[in-house]
Amino acid sequence: MMKKSFLIILTLTVMVFTQCTNNEVNNNINDQKNIDDQTIVTTQKALIEKFGSENNDQINRGVAHAASLWRASDGTVSEFEEFCLKQYIKDASEKEMVFNKVSKNLESLWGHQNKILLDLNKNMDEDNGPYHKIDAMFAGYSPEAHFSNDFYANKIAFVIALNFPPYSLDEKNEMGKNWSSLEWAYARLGDVFTARVPAELSQAISLANTNAGIYISEYNIYMGHLLNNENQKLFPEDMVLLSHWNLRDEIKSNYANKENGIEKQEMIYSVMKHIINQTIPEEVINSGEYDWNPFENKTYKEGNEIKLTAEPDTRYQQILNNFNANKAADEYYIDNNTFIKRAFSGAKSSPDDEAKEISQEEVEKLFDEYLSSPVVKEVGKLISKRLGRDLKPYDIWYDGFKARSSISEESLNVKTQSKYPNAKAFEADLVNMLKKLGWENERAEFIASKVSVDAARGSGHAWGAEMKAENAHLRTRISDKGMDYKGYNIAVHEFGHNVEQTISLHDVDYYMINGVPNTAFTEALAFIFQKRDLQLLGFKNDNIDKEYLENLDLYWSVFEIMGVSMVDMKVWKWLYENPDSNATQLKVAVINIANEVWNKYFAEVYGTTDEPILAIYSHMIASPLYLANYSFGHLIDFQIVQYLEGKDFSDEVDKIWSIGRVTPEIWMQKSVGESISIHPMIDAAEEALKHIN
Ligand SMILES: [Zn+2]
Repeated sequence: MMKKSFLIILTLTVMVFTQCTNNEVNNNINDQKNIDDQTIVTTQKALIEKFGSENNDQINRGVAHAASLWRASDGTVSEFEEFCLKQYIKDASEKEMVFNKVSKNLESLWGHQNKILLDLNKNMDEDNGPYHKIDAMFAGYSPEAHFSNDFYANKIAFVIALNFPPYSLDEKNEMGKNWSSLEWAYARLGDVFTARVPAELSQAISLANTNAGIYISEYNIYMGHLLNNENQKLFPEDMVLLSHWNLRDEIKSNYANKENGIEKQEMIYSVMKHIINQTIPEEVINSGEYDWNPFENKTYKEGNEIKLTAEPDTRYQQILNNFNANKAADEYYIDNNTFIKRAFSGAKSSPDDEAKEISQEEVEKLFDEYLSSPVVKEVGKLISKRLGRDLKPYDIWYDGFKARSSISEESLNVKTQSKYPNAKAFEADLVNMLKKLGWENERAEFIASKVSVDAARGSGHAWGAEMKAENAHLRTRISDKGMDYKGYNIAVHEFGHNVEQTISLHDVDYYMINGVPNTAFTEALAFIFQKRDLQLLGFKNDNIDKEYLENLDLYWSVFEIMGVSMVDMKVWKWLYENPDSNATQLKVAVINIANEVWNKYFAEVYGTTDEPILAIYSHMIASPLYLANYSFGHLIDFQIVQYLEGKDFSDEVDKIWSIGRVTPEIWMQKSVGESISIHPMIDAAEEALKHIN
């Protein structure tokens, strides 16, 4: 796990509330654009006259972009024209000098903001003695909340917009093939100020998102109150499961239950269908006041049947709220003028942003190809054979491909606890770990010196530095008995992130391209490290089937998550085609879409049609269009891992993670030499099948 993904949710929410109280004058919805198309053309002409027509493209782009960000409060029409004439930089060396100054200052700003966040969150993240509620209040403070408004107010944003205009994703993928790293760095500076969404609209987006998050976080099912048709309770009295994550995990854990596992799984699936169809009695959500038989959808109080009303499509209202809030901001974006485009093609504008930078069309094409791979039927047959029964819809979560190691967890615990009694011991060993992985002494010492290890309160994370003067942080759980194997395994994963964070900050040509294209590219190195955890402890991998089983497990779980993500994407396309729909119409559409996706890709493998199970994911409600990240993240991961096989590991890692933050397409071309592809994973599944069968 990387820290960023969590951070962004927190800071976004907080950012908006801080903005609220300040009520920035220069970014409210009444502050209108005052530069019309005619003024843009006149200004472009005036600049071309002054600076020469060889700068046509840059001038036209820059003026149009600056105009899209300019508001009445920034100045009059003639002040805009004057500003452009005065601030446009024709001379290439002056432009590079200005770029270097901006870049250096942004490193300082972002690096220190990151450092402040790190400090203010220290007592939340680290096991640092007693926790007090004031710690959370500090953790909620966001030092970067005013960055963008300040930079419009002091006009630096307009200097950047005019001289370093942004490029669309298509342009980056096309023109960027031949860009130098300096040209890439210019383009990345251009991504910092791409759209100026009024504070009210950003607040509304954040509010809709927060509310959806709260709705989901309180969607618990009281399992001890579920009844089967014989009036029996199958689950422990005090078991409370959050939808959909815990419900799904409970289905998974019941594969090992030979006694009544299937009945429990059927009961959970029945609950899921009521959630999707919104036939769930509203009063059984997050409450154990009533007993509920989900098969017959009857509710009881002290043994007597009581009629309760169903949830009134609230689930779908949350999606609609997200849609309406995001759609309202569409007109402020030039290229990415729908939420779908922003979610897929959008570039990050600050270190805390998330970006995919793969177009939605491209993602859908990849997913369609994968979901149509014939090998799925063979894997399905194998699972059916292992289960000794026909497949059920919830077998999308089949959990039986896990390979067990012959080394007991206790003996691993003994080893890690004695080796790493505290965080400092682990930190001191980082150099040795890098050397075991092939790095030369000096290089290993450099990378290790940039990573600090802290004992975490939570399960662990890796937090990058954002400026060269600071260290990346590795957090993992360590009890007073020392680091157990679970904590060690996570720590090795996080260390992979830290190595990526260090290489991609220190070894890229320009600060503006530091980092990786998106989270998949850092997860890849983290998983590669994690896989080598036993090797680093001096053990040999003892299960020869392990890798084959893992590949089958991955193939099957990617198949599931791609199906879910396909539903998510098609729902958002439907929303844009039916912008005036209500929650009930949306519900019908989601169920239809889920059934269609099931019937197209899953039905033949499972032998049943019209199963809406793919619509159960909570991400669809609280993190719209996020799900695709998991799938193509796995694809990219796998492709990179395959590529590294048999190569000089440390040399390759140094080389490819110093490419920096170009687009995923260009990164893949520069590193593994081909586009993102589904084939390595499918080939591996086919090979694994041959072996296991
Ligand atoms: Zn990770």
